[in-house]
Amino acid sequence: MPFECSCCGSCCMYLGDYIVIERQTAPFVFIGCCVSTGTEFIAPIDEDKRELFSDRSWIRDHPSACPFLRPSGDMIICTIHESSPVQCKSYRCTAFRISSPKGDVIGRVTGELNLHTDDPKLRFAWDDLTTRIPGLQEISEDMLRRFLEDRGYLCV
Ligand code: SF4
Ligand code: SF4
Repeated sequence: MPFECSCCGSCCMYLGDYIVIERQTAPFVFIGCCVSTGTEFIAPIDEDKRELFSDRSWIRDHPSACPFLRPSGDMIICTIHESSPVQCKSYRCTAFRISSPKGDVIGRVTGELNLHTDDPKLRFAWDDLTTRIPGLQEISEDMLRRFLEDRGYLCV
């Protein structure tokens, strides 16, 4: 099933130290920077989101959030969606969800193949696999699914 972002905003809520605005070059055009790589990018605010961006009240109350993030109805959205950095575009908070054999969702795997779970058995199985293989980059999403499904988990 292809990943569909629900625009909950969670992944951008604490990126204010990593995506920063360096300077403004026009009324709705900024130079942004990905701090971890030192890469600058031109960030025009999407035309249909300029009004949202101009309201600074939310971002003032959420200083840890990415400076381009704004609430829009029930969603929290990126106001530079069209020009956002490549790592933002490719990010998937959920590559697949993991259910127990009974069908309860007990974890999820991100697009970067990190496991999020509170289930100790699932964590143990995951650690067992990932400590045996030196770098997760050598593991594909399909291999992880097969490994988990062989142990009775459902991956959707
Ligand atoms: S990628 Fe995931 S966490 Fe980020 S906004 Fe979309 S649904 Fe939310
Ligand atoms: S640029 Fe957009 S997608 Fe990237 S962290 Fe900021 S709000 Fe999120």
